[in-house]
Amino acid sequence: MKQDIPYKTYLEENETPKAWYNMRADMKKKPAPLLNPGTGKPVTAEELGHVFCDELVKQELDNDTPQIPIPGEILDFYRMFRPSPLVRAYFLERALGTPAKIFYKFEGNNTSGSHKLNSAVAQAYYAKAQGLKGVTTETGAGQWGTALSMACSFFKLDCKVFMVKCSYEQKPFRREVMRTYGASVTPSPSMETEVGRRINAAHPGTTGSLGCAISEAVEAAVSHEGYRYVLGSVLSQVLLHQSIIGLETQAALRKLGVKPDVIIGCAGGGSNLGGLIAPFMGEKLRGEADYRIVAVEPASCPSLTRGRYAYDFCDTGRVCPLAKMYTLGHDFIPSPSHAGGLRYHGMSSALSELYDQGMLEARAVEQTAVFAAAEQFARVEGILPAPESSHAIRAAIDEALRCKAEGREETIVFGLTGTGYFDLTAYQSYNDGKMQDYVPSDADLEESFAKLPKIG
Ligand SMILES: *Cc1c(COP(=O)(O)O)cnc(C)c1O
Repeated sequence: MKQDIPYKTYLEENETPKAWYNMRADMKKKPAPLLNPGTGKPVTAEELGHVFCDELVKQELDNDTPQIPIPGEILDFYRMFRPSPLVRAYFLERALGTPAKIFYKFEGNNTSGSHKLNSAVAQAYYAKAQGLKGVTTETGAGQWGTALSMACSFFKLDCKVFMVKCSYEQKPFRREVMRTYGASVTPSPSMETEVGRRINAAHPGTTGSLGCAISEAVEAAVSHEGYRYVLGSVLSQVLLHQSIIGLETQAALRKLGVKPDVIIGCAGGGSNLGGLIAPFMGEKLRGEADYRIVAVEPASCPSLTRGRYAYDFCDTGRVCPLAKMYTLGHDFIPSPSHAGGLRYHGMSSALSELYDQGMLEARAVEQTAVFAAAEQFARVEGILPAPESSHAIRAAIDEALRCKAEGREETIVFGLTGTGYFDLTAYQSYNDGKMQDYVPSDADLEESFAKLPKIG
């Protein structure tokens, strides 16, 4: 097979990004501010400082600084698993018979198995630098908890993880990875926090949701001296850290002299997508270039394609600030899906604002079609993809098939966020032909929208 472009492109040390890129700086209309649910006013740094580390609060509220230097200790940690390769999917192209060129940025080359380590190490570093004892967090499928436990053990911080109950039961192996790195893991909703006890009483037998686990983790942080809460997605600071993905992708493509036409990422809370597209969206916002940008979400949890753009609580227990975002409602508990990392009811406020401005497209895909794409990809490209990542694979394959039908040689870039070794129960259900597609009805969504807070 002729390979004019290398199968994998890595960056040299002097080509790797040394600063994160803050996409908000180039947005003329900024994302809507977080609101204090009590006063209805924008939250202040002081209020956020009770929950989050000081430096992360600064990053969260900074809509103006385009380049934020990456501290040396974080760069050192990044060297363990970055730069990640940009792979030309020659074998997938050949299998599809498409004239399109397909590239993927592979973030699964670390023990946590996903891109989440990019932000985990940054958040743990700032917590340590502030002299904290530890951090609390939630985890859905377990990737974030795993990444955070790795980062915390590196910086010698205590790490307490509330894990969505259905994942805790479905994915015991990820739980054991976290414990191996020294984290404590509690199934959520638990009986350890007030909010957990309340949710358990209101929804007996609930399998939990990210929204519940967030409430518990926040309560655990604010009620323990020397602890702060950290979040692995949704927040602007997380998208900032994840911009490393897009910056490396941009540098590698430039090195190859390739300009993408379509950039695709799966979207749960929006961190990998926001990070992958950041520098490309920056060019788009500054009027320097144009790209099609596609967010792919599960049909079972369709916040962009079927949600409302409104202020909502970030968590079921309503302890967090209000964010304006595309949301399915803070009470929405998606049907158990095998892409646990995409089960969040809302979407990053920056991505929500850009979507509202028509700067990106969104589509929802059903689980069985996602696993068909995962299987096809694994068989030709070798990597066993995470179910979350496979949403992006589905869309990339569909775009490549469109190129084939239209006879177009477009360049497609997608984010391959992680590996699926801990998701074999999901693969088993697919292989046994037992996997089902769940799509919430309009009535289900209306019921949830009715509980959106009335603001503005
Ligand atoms: C968490 C996760 C996602 C989704 O989270 P985002 O914040 O939307 O990026 C996607 N893929 C993998 C492998 C994940 O672990």
